[in-house]
Amino acid sequence: MRILLASLALIASGMAHAGNCSIDLKGDDAMKFDQSAITVSASCKTITINLSHPGKLPAATMGHNVVIALASDMQGIANDGLKAGLAGNYVKAGDTRVIAHTSVVGGGAKTSATFPGSKLKAGGDYEFFCSAPGHWAVMKGKLTVTK
Ligand code: ZN
Repeated sequence: MRILLASLALIASGMAHAGNCSIDLKGDDAMKFDQSAITVSASCKTITINLSHPGKLPAATMGHNVVIALASDMQGIANDGLKAGLAGNYVKAGDTRVIAHTSVVGGGAKTSATFPGSKLKAGGDYEFFCSAPGHWAVMKGKLTVTK
């Protein structure tokens, strides 16, 4: 435990001027994320998305991902993601509207992805959402970006 705390202190001192640099979400069998709002800092060198699925249903029926995008792009990304299908993680290949996304996971699995904080602008209107068919209408939340 002391070693762990020391490591955390080292990591924390390395990001002295940045705010929160991680987006931690759980998506379950009830098609819900455990949070509806998250704040991160654009000054983070790297922002990490951590998604875990505490449910039991497989990815084919209740798979979830996390997509980061401008709120105004969410619906278009989700519509194109529908065509990409599960094999494409419900994200169109090379979709430039997508700032970052994770792979799709089913119950009992977890995944993560990283992207540079410089891809976000402080004060921008961003959302995090799951682009699985129909999920984005409820599995979404506001991503507030600070400097
Ligand atoms: Zn979902």
